[in-house]
Amino acid sequence: MRKMEELKKKLCYQRKNFWKESSEKEKKNAFDFSEGYKDFLDKGKNVRESVNYFEAELLKKGYQNLDKKANGNKIFRLSKNKNAAIAIIGKKPILEGINIVASHIDAPRVDLKQNPLFEDSETNLGLLRTHYYGGIKKYQWMSTPLAIHGVFVKKNGEVLNVSIGEDENEPVFVMPDLLPHLARKEQYTKKIGEAITAGSMNVIFNSIPYIEDEETKEAVKLNALILLNEKYGITEEDFLVAELELVPAGKARDSGLDKSFVLGYGQDDRVCAYTSAQAIFDAETPEKTAIVYLTDKEEIGSEGNTGAKSIFILDFIADLLKYNNESSDSLSLRKTLINSQILSADVNAAINPNYPNVHEKENAVHLGFGVSITKYTGSGGKRASNDANAEFNAKIIKILNKENVNWQTGTLGKVDEGGGGTIAKFLAQHGAEVIDCGPGILGMHALYELTSKADIYSSYKAYKAFFEKA
Ligand code: MN
Ligand code: MN
Repeated sequence: MRKMEELKKKLCYQRKNFWKESSEKEKKNAFDFSEGYKDFLDKGKNVRESVNYFEAELLKKGYQNLDKKANGNKIFRLSKNKNAAIAIIGKKPILEGINIVASHIDAPRVDLKQNPLFEDSETNLGLLRTHYYGGIKKYQWMSTPLAIHGVFVKKNGEVLNVSIGEDENEPVFVMPDLLPHLARKEQYTKKIGEAITAGSMNVIFNSIPYIEDEETKEAVKLNALILLNEKYGITEEDFLVAELELVPAGKARDSGLDKSFVLGYGQDDRVCAYTSAQAIFDAETPEKTAIVYLTDKEEIGSEGNTGAKSIFILDFIADLLKYNNESSDSLSLRKTLINSQILSADVNAAINPNYPNVHEKENAVHLGFGVSITKYTGSGGKRASNDANAEFNAKIIKILNKENVNWQTGTLGKVDEGGGGTIAKFLAQHGAEVIDCGPGILGMHALYELTSKADIYSSYKAYKAFFEKA
């Protein structure tokens, strides 16, 4: 019997539970690390706020803006308030390859339409029309307190940051769901994905009319505009060019009796943004140049000039070559990319004990067992997936083992159960080695996503080891 146990230990793969394997000090480190993370989740509730958060951190830590007479080896660039690249130039020439950790800072949400304000004539309530962004389950967004975040761009060009609903003294907003008493035909007869239509996702905005005389039409809507004009100096036309987003109001919290989890909005993929940024901040000056890339629009296909398909990161690397007095022509850029290694840092679906059937236990991510190394994503036979090369996969795992990082393999659900993708394939097309690497998460894309402090901390350790040793 004893021999069998020994043989099992020697020959069988066993993922390791962080809480069981780690020292008391390491467990405390995991708890301490999550404090800063929660603060970031509260301060960066959308893309622009996340970029602002990191800009402040970068300046505090002595990083220099490449576009403003930089010197030294700690560099960053921001783009359109929606992208960031953070770099430490290594000891070796950049041409020999860069180690990049890339994640996205957009999250599923409900945007306001360009022309959102209207007054419902039957109820005399002021409402806002919405258009959801990314893969949401619409029913989750009904009857829950929401905050408005975003910007107005005024006619004089001034960008006005807006945040209503996070401070206790500010109002929150709601898209009221139908009461169960009257939902029998309207909702219960329908499929869950069809029971709430996009058209029923209007936000209740206000109700007190502007009173001048009895005849004033749309007096409630007018009163909303009066209040907005007093506070922000805007008119209805300013909405047409605004970017305003509804997100769950309130702060990220500890979760679980033992406080071993973080529950909060937008952890896909801000958990990787935060952990990778902390990793580069704490990394010792590496041999190879290290970059943290924070991108936008992943949730809608990495499109546009701020998505991972855009030229931003290539342009940054070319300018970094130039800054480092290396050749930055097209050939050098291509070779640099081909010589590079990338962790596509995104979350994976951890096994949900309430829905075990959609996962395949031995290949799925388990909460609390460390960062997930995900060789491929995709659907319908790995379609549209970056399928990482075995040699690179092995290299990464060797580093994680050596640096004592808890890791596990992960896949996104059972074969043919569904699927999804990350930015890995958009980065891999430039020739770099790329593999997906990030923590597991429960309730992905829900208003409140659940992560394990063990996995958050393990992701940080994995990214740091990658920068220092890969
Ligand atoms: Mn993601
Ligand atoms: Mn996502």
